[in-house]
Amino acid sequence: MSQHADHHHAPSDILQEVFGYAAFRGAQGEIVEHVTHGGDALVLMPTGGGKSLCYQIPAIARHRARQGVSIVVSPLIALMHDQVGALEEAGVHAAFLNSTLSSEEAAHVEREMMSGRLVMLYAAPERITNPRFLAQLDSLRERGLLSLFAIDEAHCVSQWGHDFRSEYLALSLLHERFPEVPRIALTATADDITRADIIERLKLEDARIFISSFDRPNIRYAIVEKDKPRDQLLRFIHDEHEDEAGVVYCQSRKKVEETAAWLEGEGIKALPYHAGLDAGVRQRHQDRFLREDGIVMVATIAFGMGIDKPDVRFVAHLDLPKNIESYYQETGRAGRDGAPADAWMAYGLADVVNQRRMIDESPASEDFKKVQRGKLDALLALAEATDCRRVRLLGYFGEHSKPCGNCDNCLHPPATWDGTEAARKALSCIYRFHQNGGQRFGVGHLLDVLRGKETDKVKQYGHQHLSTWAIGADLSEQQWRAVLRQLVALGHVVAEGEYNTLALSETARAVLKGEVQLLLRVPTVAPKKGKLSRTA
Ligand code: ADP
Ligand code: ZN
Repeated sequence: MSQHADHHHAPSDILQEVFGYAAFRGAQGEIVEHVTHGGDALVLMPTGGGKSLCYQIPAIARHRARQGVSIVVSPLIALMHDQVGALEEAGVHAAFLNSTLSSEEAAHVEREMMSGRLVMLYAAPERITNPRFLAQLDSLRERGLLSLFAIDEAHCVSQWGHDFRSEYLALSLLHERFPEVPRIALTATADDITRADIIERLKLEDARIFISSFDRPNIRYAIVEKDKPRDQLLRFIHDEHEDEAGVVYCQSRKKVEETAAWLEGEGIKALPYHAGLDAGVRQRHQDRFLREDGIVMVATIAFGMGIDKPDVRFVAHLDLPKNIESYYQETGRAGRDGAPADAWMAYGLADVVNQRRMIDESPASEDFKKVQRGKLDALLALAEATDCRRVRLLGYFGEHSKPCGNCDNCLHPPATWDGTEAARKALSCIYRFHQNGGQRFGVGHLLDVLRGKETDKVKQYGHQHLSTWAIGADLSEQQWRAVLRQLVALGHVVAEGEYNTLALSETARAVLKGEVQLLLRVPTVAPKKGKLSRTA
């Protein structure tokens, strides 16, 4: 080296020389600079944004400056494997320590680490609490060879995130025990509350926060009302994604298998994937999805983490995800190559009821449930929205944007109707049931009474004599379902018990009094060849 002794430590040179890239992307350059010089950082960057380089380049630069080994905490063994392989290939000495290594292999890795020759060591979070490992870190630190901590998938430290892992909680000790060692925490999803939690739990109060745009402009968002969802899905695939790769998410393993078999029967190359399948089968299906063209993977959320297939053309949801972070994460697996892709979801009243019920019946604390309910509400608001989906999605992550022109609502603004009066009718009917013997009923019976359908059950309870009998004969069943869905989504009506019987909540009063206006979408007919026709 000439006069510029540390020329070859310059981050942009490492970017070119080691990774072969011409320029940093987005905030990468700034982040790398900050961390290389010993600053703490919290990085929020969407999947595919290039988070890895944000710690890999500082790790290399600091190693070249004789600052020793960087420790990368990652929860995903498969990912560790891939990254270490790629780094070694690029001539960067990296290794991992996890349960897949034999004791000889582990001993070898430890020797490389302790000598300071290793640039990066990837480790699972549970390793950090291992006393022997901590003693090794102490020894490295004493010799000035402990360079940096990188904490990948940092949202795992928060129970408000979508993938809480209790082992992550122990990572707070990194700062307590090694306060002088810089740390960079990275995640692809964190709303405000999760972000605050990450900062508190990882003790990152003094870290600089880097937030990249979460927008995925090539993804077109569409959320349709369920009406024979399988047929809707099939039409969507046939019309827009014939012979293209996609993922269809379902909530249960049973539904995954049934849906995959059904699609297969309809001539679509579909494979099931869920955690209950044999590991060999799972691997085979995943391999086919990655290698063959045009495979549709029908899966539970067990599928997707760490799977990097750039040309997934659509992600479809047949069931409502838990919250917006999950929705964003799952739909984000589409279109990583930047080419147009679809995020399509069918959702209905049963989804709302199910998700509410799962929260209610979970053994979690009341505080926890309250946060989960709030998150579900935000997702429901997105699903019911009549304005730009992307504006709402990004808004949830704290980003302001303009109507995107690339979502169902922007492309085909839905007609709306004022459902306030209908909502009041439905609520007073539920109220009458209750007065009339304290009995509760489900949606089906409620709709029969509102629409004046004289069923056996109606006669059995004498409901044809209620003052609310047939007061809603002017609306279609589909319209009524939309009204009920909104009432449940907004929390004015709760569905309880084994039979989903309906009851009024505290807030129903305001609707009954006409203090709350309900704007509903006019039901749309499923899109044909990219066009949405409207039934007004
Ligand atoms: P993330 O971890 O945020 O999902 P990755 O770190 O895996 O993203 O990066 C996604 C892809 O983008 C990788 O293929 C990576 O090599 C590529 N990439 C990252 N940064 C750059 C860059 N500055 N120039 C070109 N490609 C990049
Ligand atoms: Zn839009």
